[in-house]
Amino acid sequence: MADTVKLYYVDPYMKKNEAVVIKTREYKRAGESGAETSQCEIITDKTCFYPEGGGQISDRGTINGLTVDSVYEQKDENGCAVIVHRLCGPCAVKPGDAVSCEIDFGARFQNMQDHTAQHILSEAFIRTADLHTISMHMGPEYMTIDLLVTEKHGKISEKNFKLDRSILDNAENLANSIVHQNLKVRSRLIDRIELTGISLRKTPELADEKVRLVSAEGFDNSLCCGTHLASTGEAGIIKIIGQQKANNAVRIRFVSGMRALNDYRRKNYVLAEAAEYLSVEGSELTRSIEKISAENKSLAKKKNELFDNFYAKTACELGEGKYLENGIYWLEPDDLEYGELARIGQIFSKAAGSFGFALIAGDASGFFRFIIGRTQNYPRDAKKAFAEIAASFGVKGGGSPLVAQGGTIERTRTAEFKKLVNDVFSIQAAAKVF
Ligand SMILES: [Zn+2]
Repeated sequence: MADTVKLYYVDPYMKKNEAVVIKTREYKRAGESGAETSQCEIITDKTCFYPEGGGQISDRGTINGLTVDSVYEQKDENGCAVIVHRLCGPCAVKPGDAVSCEIDFGARFQNMQDHTAQHILSEAFIRTADLHTISMHMGPEYMTIDLLVTEKHGKISEKNFKLDRSILDNAENLANSIVHQNLKVRSRLIDRIELTGISLRKTPELADEKVRLVSAEGFDNSLCCGTHLASTGEAGIIKIIGQQKANNAVRIRFVSGMRALNDYRRKNYVLAEAAEYLSVEGSELTRSIEKISAENKSLAKKKNELFDNFYAKTACELGEGKYLENGIYWLEPDDLEYGELARIGQIFSKAAGSFGFALIAGDASGFFRFIIGRTQNYPRDAKKAFAEIAASFGVKGGGSPLVAQGGTIERTRTAEFKKLVNDVFSIQAAAKVF
Protein backbone atom coordinates (compact mmCIF):
# COMPACT_ATOMS: atom_id res chain seq x y z
CA MET A 1 0.00 0.00 0.00
CA ALA A 2 1.15 3.57 -0.64
CA ASP A 3 0.64 6.71 1.45
CA THR A 4 -2.90 8.10 1.20
CA VAL A 5 -2.85 11.31 -0.88
CA LYS A 6 -3.81 14.10 1.53
CA LEU A 7 -6.04 16.31 -0.57
CA TYR A 8 -6.75 18.60 2.42
CA TYR A 9 -3.16 19.81 2.08
CA VAL A 10 -3.37 20.19 -1.72
CA ASP A 11 -6.50 22.32 -1.29
CA PRO A 12 -8.00 22.83 2.18
CA TYR A 13 -11.14 24.25 0.52
CA MET A 14 -11.93 20.94 -1.24
CA LYS A 15 -15.38 19.76 -0.14
CA LYS A 16 -15.55 16.40 -1.95
CA ASN A 17 -13.48 13.98 -3.98
CA GLU A 18 -13.79 10.71 -5.87
CA ALA A 19 -11.50 7.93 -4.65
CA VAL A 20 -10.78 4.23 -5.03
CA VAL A 21 -11.09 1.88 -2.05
CA ILE A 22 -7.73 0.27 -1.23
CA LYS A 23 -8.71 -1.71 1.84
CA THR A 24 -11.72 -2.32 4.10
CA ARG A 25 -11.91 -3.94 7.51
CA GLU A 26 -14.44 -4.46 10.25
CA TYR A 27 -14.22 -2.65 13.55
CA LYS A 28 -16.13 -4.00 16.54
CA ARG A 29 -17.24 -1.58 19.17
CA ALA A 30 -19.02 -2.34 22.45
CA GLY A 31 -22.37 -0.53 22.44
CA GLU A 32 -24.09 1.06 25.45
CA SER A 33 -26.04 -2.13 26.16
CA GLY A 34 -22.80 -4.14 26.06
CA ALA A 35 -23.62 -5.73 22.70
CA GLU A 36 -20.98 -5.31 19.98
CA THR A 37 -21.73 -3.16 16.95
CA SER A 38 -19.90 -3.56 13.67
CA GLN A 39 -18.39 -0.56 11.91
CA CYS A 40 -16.59 -0.38 8.60
CA GLU A 41 -13.12 1.14 8.27
CA ILE A 42 -12.12 2.27 4.79
CA ILE A 43 -8.73 3.26 3.39
CA THR A 44 -8.84 5.02 0.02
CA ASP A 45 -6.11 6.10 -2.40
CA LYS A 46 -6.81 9.78 -1.63
CA THR A 47 -9.05 11.79 0.67
CA CYS A 48 -10.17 15.29 1.57
CA PHE A 49 -10.97 14.11 5.16
CA TYR A 50 -8.61 15.61 7.74
CA PRO A 51 -7.68 13.04 10.42
CA GLU A 52 -7.58 13.94 14.10
CA GLY A 53 -4.19 15.39 15.03
CA GLY A 54 -2.15 18.48 15.76
CA GLY A 55 -4.81 19.71 18.17
CA GLN A 56 -7.43 19.69 15.39
CA ILE A 57 -10.48 17.43 15.50
CA SER A 58 -11.17 15.15 12.53
CA ASP A 59 -13.56 16.08 9.75
CA ARG A 60 -17.11 14.79 9.68
CA GLY A 61 -18.97 13.92 6.48
CA THR A 62 -20.03 10.97 4.34
CA ILE A 63 -18.55 8.30 2.06
CA ASN A 64 -21.12 7.09 -0.51
CA GLY A 65 -23.76 8.71 1.68
CA LEU A 66 -22.75 6.78 4.83
CA THR A 67 -21.82 8.90 7.86
CA VAL A 68 -18.12 9.04 8.72
CA ASP A 69 -17.80 8.64 12.49
CA SER A 70 -14.10 9.48 12.87
CA VAL A 71 -10.91 9.72 10.83
CA TYR A 72 -7.39 8.91 11.93
CA GLU A 73 -3.92 8.44 10.46
CA GLN A 74 -1.76 5.38 11.08
CA LYS A 75 1.28 3.60 9.68
CA ASP A 76 0.35 0.40 7.86
CA GLU A 77 2.39 -2.83 7.93
CA ASN A 78 4.72 -1.41 5.23
CA GLY A 79 5.29 1.84 7.12
CA CYS A 80 3.05 3.88 4.80
CA ALA A 81 0.98 6.73 6.27
CA VAL A 82 -2.64 5.84 5.58
CA ILE A 83 -5.82 7.70 6.50
CA VAL A 84 -8.53 5.48 7.99
CA HIS A 85 -12.22 6.50 7.74
CA ARG A 86 -14.46 4.81 10.30
CA LEU A 87 -18.06 4.63 9.13
CA CYS A 88 -21.26 4.30 11.17
CA GLY A 89 -22.36 0.91 9.85
CA PRO A 90 -21.10 -2.31 8.29
CA CYS A 91 -19.02 -2.41 5.09
CA ALA A 92 -20.95 -1.92 1.86
CA VAL A 93 -17.91 -1.47 -0.40
CA LYS A 94 -14.89 -3.58 -1.34
CA PRO A 95 -11.34 -2.87 -2.57
CA GLY A 96 -11.35 -1.50 -6.11
CA ASP A 97 -14.75 0.20 -5.76
CA ALA A 98 -15.03 3.89 -6.62
CA VAL A 99 -16.45 5.96 -3.76
CA SER A 100 -17.50 9.55 -3.28
CA CYS A 101 -16.08 11.33 -0.19
CA GLU A 102 -17.74 14.52 1.07
CA ILE A 103 -16.83 16.49 4.19
CA ASP A 104 -19.05 18.71 6.34
CA PHE A 105 -17.40 21.84 5.02
CA GLY A 106 -19.18 24.18 7.46
CA ALA A 107 -17.48 22.44 10.38
CA ARG A 108 -14.16 22.24 8.51
CA PHE A 109 -14.23 25.94 7.62
CA GLN A 110 -14.84 26.80 11.29
CA ASN A 111 -11.80 24.64 12.14
CA MET A 112 -9.74 26.53 9.52
CA GLN A 113 -10.91 29.85 10.96
CA ASP A 114 -10.15 28.75 14.53
CA HIS A 115 -6.75 27.34 13.65
CA THR A 116 -5.69 30.42 11.72
CA ALA A 117 -7.12 32.69 14.44
CA GLN A 118 -5.07 30.79 17.00
CA HIS A 119 -1.84 31.47 15.07
CA ILE A 120 -2.71 35.18 14.86
CA LEU A 121 -3.76 35.54 18.51
CA SER A 122 -0.75 33.60 19.85
CA GLU A 123 1.63 35.87 17.92
CA ALA A 124 -0.36 38.96 19.00
CA PHE A 125 0.09 38.02 22.69
CA ILE A 126 3.86 37.73 22.15
CA ARG A 127 4.09 41.10 20.40
CA THR A 128 1.88 43.04 22.81
CA ALA A 129 2.72 41.40 26.17
CA ASP A 130 5.54 38.87 25.68
CA LEU A 131 3.10 36.10 26.63
CA HIS A 132 3.97 32.80 24.94
CA THR A 133 1.48 30.05 24.05
CA ILE A 134 2.50 26.71 25.55
CA SER A 135 -0.52 24.66 24.46
CA MET A 136 -3.80 24.92 22.59
CA HIS A 137 -7.08 23.02 22.46
CA MET A 138 -9.97 23.05 19.98
CA GLY A 139 -13.32 22.51 21.68
CA PRO A 140 -16.83 22.15 20.29
CA GLU A 141 -17.83 25.66 21.41
CA TYR A 142 -14.61 27.62 21.71
CA MET A 143 -10.85 27.30 21.43
CA THR A 144 -8.27 27.77 24.17
CA ILE A 145 -4.61 28.71 24.36
CA ASP A 146 -2.51 28.49 27.53
CA LEU A 147 -0.21 31.49 28.04
CA LEU A 148 2.84 31.01 30.23
CA VAL A 149 2.81 33.69 32.95
CA THR A 150 6.16 34.96 34.25
CA GLU A 151 6.91 37.30 37.15
CA LYS A 152 6.66 40.42 35.05
CA HIS A 153 2.98 39.64 34.37
CA GLY A 154 2.14 39.25 38.06
CA LYS A 155 1.92 36.62 40.78
CA ILE A 156 0.38 33.51 39.21
CA SER A 157 0.45 31.86 42.66
CA GLU A 158 -2.41 34.15 43.77
CA LYS A 159 -5.66 32.23 44.09
CA ASN A 160 -7.76 34.17 41.59
CA PHE A 161 -4.97 35.46 39.38
CA LYS A 162 -6.16 37.20 36.23
CA LEU A 163 -4.36 39.00 33.44
CA ASP A 164 -5.20 42.68 33.31
CA ARG A 165 -8.09 43.42 30.97
CA SER A 166 -5.89 45.84 28.98
CA ILE A 167 -3.46 42.98 28.16
CA LEU A 168 -6.30 40.97 26.62
CA ASP A 169 -7.69 44.02 24.79
CA ASN A 170 -4.30 44.93 23.28
CA ALA A 171 -3.68 41.41 21.95
CA GLU A 172 -7.25 41.20 20.66
CA ASN A 173 -6.91 44.57 18.91
CA LEU A 174 -3.69 43.54 17.17
CA ALA A 175 -5.16 40.16 16.17
CA ASN A 176 -8.20 41.83 14.60
CA SER A 177 -6.07 44.42 12.80
CA ILE A 178 -4.18 41.47 11.22
CA VAL A 179 -7.56 40.14 10.10
CA HIS A 180 -8.40 43.53 8.56
CA GLN A 181 -5.05 43.64 6.73
CA ASN A 182 -6.12 40.41 4.99
CA LEU A 183 -2.59 38.97 4.90
CA LYS A 184 -1.91 35.93 2.71
CA VAL A 185 -1.55 32.66 4.62
CA ARG A 186 0.76 30.11 2.99
CA SER A 187 1.04 26.48 4.09
CA ARG A 188 3.84 24.43 2.57
CA LEU A 189 5.83 21.29 3.17
CA ILE A 190 9.55 22.11 3.24
CA ASP A 191 12.83 20.46 4.13
CA ARG A 192 13.87 21.13 7.71
CA ILE A 193 17.10 22.71 6.45
CA GLU A 194 15.04 25.43 4.69
CA LEU A 195 13.94 26.72 8.12
CA THR A 196 17.35 28.37 8.55
CA GLY A 197 16.84 32.10 8.67
CA ILE A 198 13.10 31.83 9.29
CA SER A 199 12.02 33.19 12.66
CA LEU A 200 9.54 30.70 14.12
CA ARG A 201 7.03 31.55 16.86
CA LYS A 202 7.81 28.31 18.68
CA THR A 203 10.97 26.21 18.46
CA PRO A 204 10.03 22.83 16.96
CA GLU A 205 10.67 19.63 18.88
CA LEU A 206 10.05 17.38 15.87
CA ALA A 207 12.87 15.39 14.34
CA ASP A 208 11.12 15.01 10.97
CA GLU A 209 13.09 15.95 7.87
CA LYS A 210 10.01 17.42 6.22
CA VAL A 211 8.08 20.07 8.15
CA ARG A 212 4.90 21.98 7.40
CA LEU A 213 5.43 25.73 7.60
CA VAL A 214 2.38 27.96 7.98
CA SER A 215 3.06 31.67 7.42
CA ALA A 216 0.77 34.65 7.83
CA GLU A 217 2.72 36.98 5.53
CA GLY A 218 5.15 39.10 7.54
CA PHE A 219 3.41 38.43 10.86
CA ASP A 220 3.72 34.83 11.99
CA ASN A 221 5.68 31.71 11.04
CA SER A 222 4.93 28.44 12.75
CA LEU A 223 5.05 24.73 12.12
CA CYS A 224 1.59 23.20 12.06
CA CYS A 225 -0.12 20.22 10.46
CA GLY A 226 -3.69 21.57 10.67
CA THR A 227 -5.79 23.10 7.90
CA HIS A 228 -5.72 26.89 7.52
CA LEU A 229 -7.35 29.74 5.62
CA ALA A 230 -5.83 31.29 2.51
CA SER A 231 -5.91 34.78 4.03
CA THR A 232 -6.30 36.25 7.51
CA GLY A 233 -9.42 38.24 6.51
CA GLU A 234 -11.48 35.04 6.34
CA ALA A 235 -11.03 34.50 10.10
CA GLY A 236 -13.74 37.13 10.70
CA ILE A 237 -13.89 38.38 14.27
CA ILE A 238 -11.34 37.05 16.79
CA LYS A 239 -12.90 37.50 20.23
CA ILE A 240 -11.57 36.52 23.65
CA ILE A 241 -14.49 35.36 25.79
CA GLY A 242 -12.79 34.43 29.08
CA GLN A 243 -9.68 33.57 31.05
CA GLN A 244 -8.89 31.26 33.95
CA LYS A 245 -5.79 30.17 35.80
CA ALA A 246 -4.33 26.81 34.72
CA ASN A 247 -1.28 25.90 36.84
CA ASN A 248 1.45 28.39 35.89
CA ALA A 249 -0.42 29.63 32.85
CA VAL A 250 -3.59 31.52 32.00
CA ARG A 251 -6.06 29.71 29.76
CA ILE A 252 -7.63 32.08 27.25
CA ARG A 253 -10.98 31.11 25.69
CA PHE A 254 -11.69 32.63 22.29
CA VAL A 255 -13.95 32.30 19.28
CA SER A 256 -13.65 33.29 15.62
CA GLY A 257 -15.71 33.56 12.45
CA MET A 258 -19.42 32.66 12.56
CA ARG A 259 -18.98 31.22 16.03
CA ALA A 260 -17.87 34.66 17.22
CA LEU A 261 -20.84 36.29 15.47
CA ASN A 262 -23.23 33.77 17.05
CA ASP A 263 -21.65 34.38 20.46
CA TYR A 264 -22.01 38.16 20.00
CA ARG A 265 -25.62 37.75 18.84
CA ARG A 266 -26.58 35.53 21.79
CA LYS A 267 -24.97 37.83 24.35
CA ASN A 268 -26.58 40.86 22.72
CA TYR A 269 -30.01 39.25 23.07
CA VAL A 270 -29.32 38.38 26.72
CA LEU A 271 -28.23 41.96 27.47
CA ALA A 272 -31.18 43.46 25.60
CA GLU A 273 -33.66 41.19 27.42
CA ALA A 274 -32.10 41.93 30.82
CA ALA A 275 -32.10 45.69 30.13
CA GLU A 276 -35.74 45.57 29.02
CA TYR A 277 -36.69 43.55 32.08
CA LEU A 278 -35.09 46.13 34.37
CA SER A 279 -36.29 49.04 32.22
CA VAL A 280 -32.79 50.52 31.87
CA GLU A 281 -30.36 51.18 29.03
CA GLY A 282 -27.82 48.39 28.35
CA SER A 283 -24.98 50.62 29.57
CA GLU A 284 -26.80 51.05 32.92
CA LEU A 285 -27.20 47.30 33.54
CA THR A 286 -24.23 46.78 35.87
CA ARG A 287 -25.14 49.76 38.04
CA SER A 288 -28.78 48.64 38.11
CA ILE A 289 -27.80 45.10 39.18
CA GLU A 290 -25.49 46.49 41.89
CA LYS A 291 -28.38 48.61 43.19
CA ILE A 292 -30.79 45.65 43.22
CA SER A 293 -28.19 43.49 44.95
CA ALA A 294 -27.65 46.11 47.68
CA GLU A 295 -31.42 46.49 48.17
CA ASN A 296 -31.75 42.74 48.33
CA LYS A 297 -29.13 42.47 51.07
CA SER A 298 -30.82 45.23 53.06
CA LEU A 299 -34.25 43.56 52.68
CA ALA A 300 -32.83 40.18 53.73
CA LYS A 301 -31.38 41.78 56.85
CA LYS A 302 -34.73 43.43 57.70
CA LYS A 303 -36.58 40.18 56.99
CA ASN A 304 -34.28 38.26 59.35
CA GLU A 305 -34.84 40.83 62.09
CA LEU A 306 -38.63 40.61 61.68
CA PHE A 307 -38.42 36.82 61.53
CA ASP A 308 -36.41 36.62 64.75
CA ASN A 309 -38.69 39.14 66.51
CA PHE A 310 -41.80 37.26 65.48
CA TYR A 311 -40.53 33.89 66.71
CA ALA A 312 -39.06 35.43 69.89
CA LYS A 313 -42.60 36.74 70.61
CA THR A 314 -44.05 33.28 69.85
CA ALA A 315 -41.44 31.78 72.22
CA CYS A 316 -42.69 34.11 75.02
CA GLU A 317 -46.26 32.95 74.44
CA LEU A 318 -45.11 29.30 74.43
CA GLY A 319 -43.31 29.98 77.71
CA GLU A 320 -46.69 31.10 79.08
CA GLY A 321 -48.15 27.75 78.07
CA LYS A 322 -50.03 28.87 74.93
CA TYR A 323 -50.46 26.69 71.77
CA LEU A 324 -48.98 23.57 73.43
CA GLU A 325 -50.26 19.99 72.97
CA ASN A 326 -49.03 17.75 75.76
CA GLY A 327 -46.21 20.23 76.38
CA ILE A 328 -45.13 20.27 72.68
CA TYR A 329 -45.51 23.08 70.15
CA TRP A 330 -46.00 21.76 66.61
CA LEU A 331 -44.94 23.84 63.62
CA GLU A 332 -45.39 22.62 60.06
CA PRO A 333 -45.00 25.67 57.76
CA ASP A 334 -45.40 25.41 53.98
CA ASP A 335 -43.24 28.39 53.16
CA LEU A 336 -40.10 28.00 55.25
CA GLU A 337 -36.77 26.41 54.37
CA TYR A 338 -35.19 23.81 56.63
CA GLY A 339 -32.46 26.35 57.50
CA GLU A 340 -35.12 28.80 58.69
CA LEU A 341 -36.64 26.12 60.90
CA ALA A 342 -33.21 25.52 62.43
CA ARG A 343 -33.09 29.25 63.21
CA ILE A 344 -36.51 29.00 64.91
CA GLY A 345 -35.23 25.97 66.86
CA GLN A 346 -32.33 28.06 68.19
CA ILE A 347 -34.68 30.88 69.28
CA PHE A 348 -37.15 28.49 70.99
CA SER A 349 -34.46 26.51 72.82
CA LYS A 350 -33.18 29.70 74.46
CA ALA A 351 -36.66 30.83 75.60
CA ALA A 352 -37.88 31.02 79.19
CA GLY A 353 -40.54 28.64 80.49
CA SER A 354 -40.94 24.92 79.92
CA PHE A 355 -41.98 23.46 76.55
CA GLY A 356 -40.84 21.13 73.82
CA PHE A 357 -41.21 21.76 70.09
CA ALA A 358 -41.35 19.75 66.88
CA LEU A 359 -40.66 21.55 63.61
CA ILE A 360 -41.43 19.77 60.35
CA ALA A 361 -40.11 20.82 56.91
CA GLY A 362 -41.69 19.01 53.96
CA ASP A 363 -40.28 19.01 50.44
CA ALA A 364 -41.83 18.69 46.98
CA SER A 365 -40.69 15.08 46.56
CA GLY A 366 -43.02 13.84 49.35
CA PHE A 367 -40.57 13.64 52.25
CA PHE A 368 -39.95 15.71 55.37
CA ARG A 369 -37.10 16.49 57.74
CA PHE A 370 -37.67 17.53 61.34
CA ILE A 371 -36.22 19.26 64.36
CA ILE A 372 -37.19 18.44 67.93
CA GLY A 373 -36.03 20.52 70.86
CA ARG A 374 -36.89 22.05 74.18
CA THR A 375 -36.22 24.84 76.61
CA GLN A 376 -33.76 24.37 79.44
CA ASN A 377 -36.55 23.62 81.92
CA TYR A 378 -38.51 21.06 79.85
CA PRO A 379 -37.98 17.63 81.44
CA ARG A 380 -37.21 15.62 78.29
CA ASP A 381 -33.95 14.86 76.45
CA ALA A 382 -34.11 15.73 72.73
CA LYS A 383 -31.10 13.60 71.86
CA LYS A 384 -32.54 10.47 73.50
CA ALA A 385 -35.98 11.07 71.97
CA PHE A 386 -34.37 11.56 68.57
CA ALA A 387 -32.51 8.25 68.93
CA GLU A 388 -35.84 6.43 69.44
CA ILE A 389 -37.40 8.15 66.42
CA ALA A 390 -34.33 7.47 64.27
CA ALA A 391 -34.36 3.78 65.20
CA SER A 392 -38.06 3.47 64.45
CA PHE A 393 -38.00 5.30 61.08
CA GLY A 394 -34.48 4.37 59.99
CA VAL A 395 -33.32 7.97 59.57
CA LYS A 396 -30.02 9.74 60.15
CA GLY A 397 -29.24 12.84 62.17
CA GLY A 398 -28.42 13.85 65.70
CA GLY A 399 -27.86 16.78 68.01
CA SER A 400 -27.69 17.75 71.67
CA PRO A 401 -30.01 17.05 74.63
CA LEU A 402 -31.50 20.49 73.81
CA VAL A 403 -32.03 20.31 70.00
CA ALA A 404 -31.78 17.37 67.59
CA GLN A 405 -32.55 17.14 63.89
CA GLY A 406 -32.67 14.72 60.98
CA GLY A 407 -34.74 12.98 58.30
CA THR A 408 -35.95 12.08 55.79
CA ILE A 409 -39.34 10.47 56.31
CA GLU A 410 -42.15 9.90 53.82
CA ARG A 411 -44.98 12.40 54.34
CA THR A 412 -47.51 9.56 54.31
CA ARG A 413 -46.02 8.53 57.68
CA THR A 414 -46.59 11.95 59.31
CA ALA A 415 -49.36 10.70 61.66
CA GLU A 416 -47.18 7.76 62.76
CA PHE A 417 -44.27 10.17 63.31
CA LYS A 418 -46.40 12.55 65.41
CA LYS A 419 -47.65 9.71 67.58
CA LEU A 420 -44.11 8.52 68.29
CA VAL A 421 -42.89 12.06 69.10
CA ASN A 422 -45.83 12.37 71.48
CA ASP A 423 -44.96 9.00 73.07
CA VAL A 424 -41.30 9.81 73.68
CA PHE A 425 -41.14 13.59 73.97
CA SER A 426 -44.42 14.89 75.44
CA ILE A 427 -44.77 16.11 79.01
CA GLN A 428 -46.79 12.99 79.82
CA ALA A 429 -43.89 10.85 78.65
CA ALA A 430 -41.71 12.57 81.23
CA ALA A 431 -42.80 10.04 83.80
CA LYS A 432 -41.58 7.22 81.58
CA VAL A 433 -38.05 6.00 82.09
CA PHE A 434 -35.86 5.43 79.04
ZN1 LIG B 1 -2.29 25.71 12.71
